[in-house]
Amino acid sequence: MILDKFSLKGKVAIVTGSNTGLGQGICRAYAEAGAKVIGVSRRPSTETKELIGDAFHNVIADLSSTEVIPSIIEQAIEKFGRVDILVNNAGIIKRQDSIEFSEENWDSVLNVNLKTVFFLTQAVAQQFLKQGTGGKIINIASMLSYQGGIRVPSYTASKSAIKGVTMTLANEWAKYGINVNGIAPGYMATNNTAQLRSDEDRSADILSRIPAGRWGTPADLEGAAVFLASDASDYVNGFTIAVDGGWLAR
Ligand code: NAP
Repeated sequence: MILDKFSLKGKVAIVTGSNTGLGQGICRAYAEAGAKVIGVSRRPSTETKELIGDAFHNVIADLSSTEVIPSIIEQAIEKFGRVDILVNNAGIIKRQDSIEFSEENWDSVLNVNLKTVFFLTQAVAQQFLKQGTGGKIINIASMLSYQGGIRVPSYTASKSAIKGVTMTLANEWAKYGINVNGIAPGYMATNNTAQLRSDEDRSADILSRIPAGRWGTPADLEGAAVFLASDASDYVNGFTIAVDGGWLAR
């Protein structure tokens, strides 16, 4: 049955940024599809735990440093015994005119959105090899993996890079049965875009060029996230799928 291929029954997923927004939606969808979920967050994922229950375990970690990576893997194995899926969702954005953009705003974004993503992905892939299994890696990219954006140079650098690294890793690891893909969300109503949505002119501007005529929601991302984590995507390698209400098609 084709729908069985989308099931995540028996799988264990690590999802970063599990306390809110898109990450919380992905955790909920994975649990609904049958997976056990390790949610990584720097603040407790209390609401996510309430939504999901026993299939969810929260690991508290600050992903601005790579030091936390070994402990994330250890806690995942201790709790659920294996890892099959990693979603690199945690991310930050800093808005400042490029003419005066600070080194702090550069480094903080690149550390969370790119450096930790790479080394956590490497650690999870090593775990797949240790298990003798393949696995699925999903990187949350952005419209700014394709476009320049305004006043967000470090975010654009990180999200453009993550799309490239997704292809590199897919090339190297397809032979191990590891699929590395990305999802590029469009303009979604979460904390990440609160500042944009509160600026009436920018908000109206953005809305007017989304063919779907509305901001996206975490629920809009769930189908692509389950697909890329499931057996249904076994022959999809290195591609970043836009879930953007048609933004990139304009
Ligand atoms: P969000 O509500 O701001 O969520 C970001 C998540 O990342 C939160 O869980 C946040 O935790 C976590 N995080 C940030 N820094 C962290 C750190 N140092 N250690 C651990 N966790 C950290 O925004 P979102 O929209 O759901 O964003 C999720 C992903 O989608 C991000 O990668 C973002 O760039 C991407 N994205 C979003 C949009 C959009 O329109 N919303 C569009 C394209 C791409 P805290 O709550 O503790 O900060």
